[in-house]
Formats: sequence, structure tokens, C-alpha cells
Amino acid sequence: MPLNVASSKKKEANKMKQLIIGSHVGVSGRDMLLGAVKDTLSYQANAFMFYTGAPQNTLRRPIDAFLVDEAHALMAAYQINKEHVIVHAPYIINLANTTNQKVMELAKEFLSQEVQRVSQLGFRYLVIHPGSHVGEGIHVGTNQILSIVNELFQKDKSDVVLLFETMSGKGSEIGFNLEQVIDLIHGVKEKHRVGLCLDTCHLHDAGYDITDFDNILDLIEAQIGLEKIKAIHVNDSKNERGSKKDRHENLGFGKIGFSALLQVIYNPRIAHVPKILETPWIDDYPPYKEEIAMIRQQIFDPSLKEKIKQVLKKKVNG
Ligand code: FE
Ligand code: FE
Ligand code: ZN
Repeated sequence: MPLNVASSKKKEANKMKQLIIGSHVGVSGRDMLLGAVKDTLSYQANAFMFYTGAPQNTLRRPIDAFLVDEAHALMAAYQINKEHVIVHAPYIINLANTTNQKVMELAKEFLSQEVQRVSQLGFRYLVIHPGSHVGEGIHVGTNQILSIVNELFQKDKSDVVLLFETMSGKGSEIGFNLEQVIDLIHGVKEKHRVGLCLDTCHLHDAGYDITDFDNILDLIEAQIGLEKIKAIHVNDSKNERGSKKDRHENLGFGKIGFSALLQVIYNPRIAHVPKILETPWIDDYPPYKEEIAMIRQQIFDPSLKEKIKQVLKKKVNG
């Protein structure tokens, strides 16, 4: 094999091996998106996810306030690929609500603005919870979601891709099994504008066995192809498999366990997909730097929470 081919193959292999990892980061204050990139770098991460404002409301600051150019310059300097940045839609918008005209209109209007915002911020991927059918049934809810999304994509000509997230099945949530999410993806007419976001806590709480992640990937591969997976939320769960609770836990401290989560993170079939932590803060401290270090070392530290609490205590007292 000629040397240059060998070295480019090696480069390719290294690229495949590089872990794409990050966490949820806040966008607020004076630094806005620039602050999100700074936080990401401080966690030794190379991917991140953010809400364009508070996740529980629809108040949003104008794009001018986000420091978009500064954020992208910093990303470029540290080789953060913008394809590895995910925006999460606020969880109060419910595309599946067919019982309240006002809620429906708000969801529709906000989603269309949010897609525009994602595009203006220079990103491509918007994660959304499919929605809750509030008693009308999965079929009715699903139809409504699809009619909103298909109508939106007729008007919106950006390249933003909507990622439906797998859910735990609490309340009347749609998307607690892969078939439902796959149905949604099949129902979107603009095929290149829809994808999938897996959440390990949600899958586990919905009843899937995370220790057999290849089984989950096989199902997705057969139905829509693995390339539809654009983001993976890596969270442990506070509850037993099938509990339908949706309470996230720090990696290794929950019922999924560290080794099963590592196998998701290092699964070669999804090496190119950003892995995003949405694990709980410890007191008032986001533990992402420590959790990411633990992932890179591939060794669980059962005293991690205690250590962080000790450091925080010292800070308060000192
Ligand atoms: Fe989510
Ligand atoms: Fe999630
Ligand atoms: Zn969740």
C-alpha cells in the first residue's frame, strides 16, 4: 500500500475513534452562546447541546444577543464541529395536543420560529419531544405532529433537521417505543429533514435493555438506517427498567450502570454521533467535566459525588 494511502487511512481510523462527547450547557447572561462554547471547552468536551432560552417557557432573546460570530470563532479555534452541536426545543411545546386550539397554535408558531433561530445561530439539529396526546390516543397525536411538521417544512426552506427524541412513556407521551418514533420519521415528507435522538434513560425507563444496545441499533438499522441517528443523550436512570418515570441520574449511579453506558458511548456503529450528557447537577454544580473524564478513563469512580460535595463545601467555608 502506498504510504500516503496508508496514512490517510490511519487518519480516517483516528477520526472514527475520536469520541464525540459533551453535555447540556446553559445559554444566558452576557456571554450567551459564547458562554456555552466556553463551558464546553472547560469540560474537555467537543460537542454540546443547549436550549435557546429557558426550557420551560417560550421567551427568547433576539439573535443579536447570542454572540453568534464570537461563538463560532471559538468553536473553529478548538475544532468543535457545528454538526456536533444540538439545539433542544423547550419541553412545553406539545405538537400532539389536539384538544386545546391555543396550545396547538403556540406549538406551531414557536416551532417555526425555533427552526429559524437554529438556522440563524448557524446550526442544523433541533431535538424535539414528539409530544403528549393528552388522552386522545397515539394515532390522533401522531397525525397532528406530522401535519404540523409537514406544513412547516413546506414553508421553511432552511436546512434544519428535526430530531424526534425517544421518550420514557410518562403520562401520555408519544415516542416511548422505537416503532412510534420510526412511524413519525416515516411520516415526514422531507426525508432529509428528520432524524432520531436516542436517550438512554428514556429507553431504559420505557423498558429497553441498554446492556443489549446492539439489539436496539439492529432494529433502527432495519427500519430507517443508522444514519438517521444524529444525537444520543447519555444518562443513567434513577429507576428500574420499564418504570416510565424519566428521572435522570449521573453515570454509574443509577439502574443502567456505568459499563452498559460505556458500551453505548464506545459502540463503533455510532462512533460518529455526538453523545450528550443530561445528568443532574450535584448541588449547584454541573459535574460534566468530571463525568467526561470518567468516560475517557473508562473507570467508574463511586466516590465522584462525594468528592464534588467536599470541594463545594470547602469553597463555601473558605
Ligand atoms: Fe429531551
Ligand atoms: Fe434527553
Ligand atoms: Zn428525560
